[in-house]
Amino acid sequence: MAKHYTGLIERYRDRLPVTTNTPIISLGEGNTPLIELKHLPKLVKKDVRILVKFEGLNPTGSFKDRGMTMAVTKAVEAGSKAVICASTGNTSAAAAAYAARAGIAAFVLIPEGKIALGKLSQAMMHGAVTIQIKGNFDDGMRLVKEISDNLSVTIVNSINPFRLQGQKTAAFEIIEELGEAPDYHALPVGNAGNITAHWIGYSEAACIDTASCAFCAGNCQFKNGTLAERRPIMLGYQAAGSAPFLRGEFVDQPETIATAIRIGHPQSWDRAWKVKEESGGWFGECTDTEILKVQKLLAQTEGIFCEPASAASLAGVLKDLELGLIGEGSTIVCTLTGHGLKDPEMAISQSTLPVSVEATHGAIEKIILANIAKF
Ligand SMILES: *Cc1c(COP(=O)(O)O)cnc(C)c1O
Repeated sequence: MAKHYTGLIERYRDRLPVTTNTPIISLGEGNTPLIELKHLPKLVKKDVRILVKFEGLNPTGSFKDRGMTMAVTKAVEAGSKAVICASTGNTSAAAAAYAARAGIAAFVLIPEGKIALGKLSQAMMHGAVTIQIKGNFDDGMRLVKEISDNLSVTIVNSINPFRLQGQKTAAFEIIEELGEAPDYHALPVGNAGNITAHWIGYSEAACIDTASCAFCAGNCQFKNGTLAERRPIMLGYQAAGSAPFLRGEFVDQPETIATAIRIGHPQSWDRAWKVKEESGGWFGECTDTEILKVQKLLAQTEGIFCEPASAASLAGVLKDLELGLIGEGSTIVCTLTGHGLKDPEMAISQSTLPVSVEATHGAIEKIILANIAKF
């Protein structure tokens, strides 16, 4: 029988807060590939399995679509005619697209000059009312909370609980593909919504007593037993200039080229500490130089192009493997949160510019002969 994939709400509807009457707003999000790295483990001389969950292949190019399909679906179900968010870029792109699909308005607040070009183009193209503020993400978040107290617009930032419900499905997909939870799961951390959502997903999947489970509170409906026998150790990586979880306090002027995680006041602060404790995991930090190096390494050795923030998960794992904090023989999943095409300026600025020659056979042949031995 033909099976047309229609998005993660349909696929996991028995584990999500929807009913048969819920009007589902979907763009076919989820079901992203889990790609095993072939060359990098050898390159760093480590006997480990590293798999990347390439969330950049969602409809708008980031994992935010998983949360946005739920948030916009529930907003429409509740009769809302408008959504609003503060964003470093990807949330605004997803909100704009799903609002367009639903036929409702989207208002997005972005930090002026600190948003990657691809993301800005998406918000604009999908017709969101795009408001640049002379401030950072944290300022935008504060404003959005104030505004939605007075006006009837639905917040679709990750403080909207439906966002995390949608995002938890990534954990289900990973367990289904591996047959079990991995030993470690690494993510880049900004507001820490996604690391929290993954922990909810892993916890529900391994839940043996729904009545007493703190996560599902009896609602996750794994009525036929568990999907997984264990939960992974959760690793959260931040950019060094924007690392409140490493400093143990909020950071007022976060700075990093990884704009998606340029966040000093994480909205899921307490929950992320709980994830760290319950999973026996830790937070780590990477410099911008380390992040960009790994972004390029991944693109050039594995053919996978993620945005800078996403590379923080892999950069952190490579560091902690080197330090011996992650043992050999482990299976590690790194979430690549967004696509590299989101930030073409950053990619071009760290690459060799194309050579320019006459349109002749000889000129091209010369270049091929000069370069072919390098491969
Ligand atoms: C939103 C985002 C993050 C951070 O996720 P949080 O849930 O805020 O921790 C990381 N990478 C990319 C590409 C993002 O869009």
